[in-house]
Amino acid sequence: MKGLGWRPHGSFSKRMKNKNRSALWKPFTQMTDLAREEPLVIARGEGRWLVTDRGRRLYDGVSSLWANVHGHRIREIDQAIRRQLSQIAHTTLLGPTHEPAEVLAQKLVALAPRGLTRVFYSDNGSTAVEVALKMAFQYHRQKPRPEPARTRFLALTQGYDGDTLGAVGVGGIALFHQVYGPLIRRPLRAPAPHAYRCPLRHRHDGQGCWRGCLAVLERIVARHHRKIAAFVFEPLVQGAAGMVMHPPQYLAAAARLCRAHGILLVADEVATGFGRTGTMFACEAAGVAPDFLCLAKGLTGGYLPLAATLTTEPVYRAFLGPYGSFKAFFHGHTYSGNPLACAAALANLDLLLEKRVVEGVARKTPMLARALSSLARHPHVGEIRQKGFMVGIELVADRTSKKPFPLEARTAYRVGLACRARGLLLRPLGDVIVLMPPLTATARELAWMTEVVKEAIDEVTVSRPMREAQVSQADITGGR
Ligand SMILES: *Cc1c(COP(=O)(O)O)cnc(C)c1O
Repeated sequence: MKGLGWRPHGSFSKRMKNKNRSALWKPFTQMTDLAREEPLVIARGEGRWLVTDRGRRLYDGVSSLWANVHGHRIREIDQAIRRQLSQIAHTTLLGPTHEPAEVLAQKLVALAPRGLTRVFYSDNGSTAVEVALKMAFQYHRQKPRPEPARTRFLALTQGYDGDTLGAVGVGGIALFHQVYGPLIRRPLRAPAPHAYRCPLRHRHDGQGCWRGCLAVLERIVARHHRKIAAFVFEPLVQGAAGMVMHPPQYLAAAARLCRAHGILLVADEVATGFGRTGTMFACEAAGVAPDFLCLAKGLTGGYLPLAATLTTEPVYRAFLGPYGSFKAFFHGHTYSGNPLACAAALANLDLLLEKRVVEGVARKTPMLARALSSLARHPHVGEIRQKGFMVGIELVADRTSKKPFPLEARTAYRVGLACRARGLLLRPLGDVIVLMPPLTATARELAWMTEVVKEAIDEVTVSRPMREAQVSQADITGGR
């Protein structure tokens, strides 16, 4: 490399083709496998499409990792960032304040479920959860009648709340989290309702099966409630688990139970927030008003890193006191509430409301369901799970026994490649194909995506014998 000058669209892409020149260690990726592949270089975006350095258009079928809302290069959001850039790119919230952070906080409070009146910024989903965990723990020590024994968290099997150690601590996906076991304190773990693969190994038809899981939760709470600071959950959809879904009735009952026992509710809406499931927040569908609401992915429309942890007046007040009481929340990130990111978030929220995007998701959800139903009888589709624009299609070797494909077959990964060859970019989770299009996706695009997935599954599972047996950690995890 000559000098340090860098321009977009320069000669970088050509050099990239020499894979050995990359200095990157990529997230959730087995780099050994990656080195065998041609790198996919995204040069720019056009609405809901990505354009590669070779000019190929790929539909952004997982919203650039579940974050994008309106598409790429949206005029209003671009302009909002430029306007802010002409003022200042970054200034700290440790001490001073700035208008974008203040206005955004007010708008978030207005949108959020009742009772959430205070906004604490950080810069990603993991830290949004981290903040909630620390606040919940500290609240019980500092509240008017302290309960310092409440030091444990209650979480669900297969949960995913991020990759920092606190979030890993409550996480329940063995493949991502087990290795770090010695570093963290395990939470109390309740089974997440999952009708297709029941965590209690019950044989049932799925109807009302959540009651069995609720009964276990009741037993845990009855026995341990004095030790539990908070219940941490992804409302309605456990995304990284493979789009595992529970009914609102379960969530409502679990929330009532926790409330009755002084256990705070931490709703991780990093993936479900901002209309993804057809309501602004997934909690709303269950009538749950949590004590903490963790937001990130869709907050800036998928533009810039920003996260928010919303909480209540009682929690906020427990941290007030004279300087010497040291009750302050000793936590903050350098870029907490970055002005450019706040400006993007404000423009994103304006667009969401003006264009009635959330109502659009609710309206298009049945169309997507109809399109997906054409896959329901496929011999290698075990279950299709959908909530709004969050879809998981679980592939199985055998429908009757629900037997999975062997890991070495890399089935969903190959389906993903077959989709890519047809112009659709996806990233599966294990053997679950994930569809998470931008919320402005049209009915035609939804139908097209489903058709492409069907062809791709056929190509991989039916017409071609399974070979190229190569275990790849990247495919097992499938990333997020
Ligand atoms: C993605 C995700 C996180 C972590 O967010 P990051 O910004 O990747 O740290 C946490 N919780 C849920 C539910 C998520 O989907």
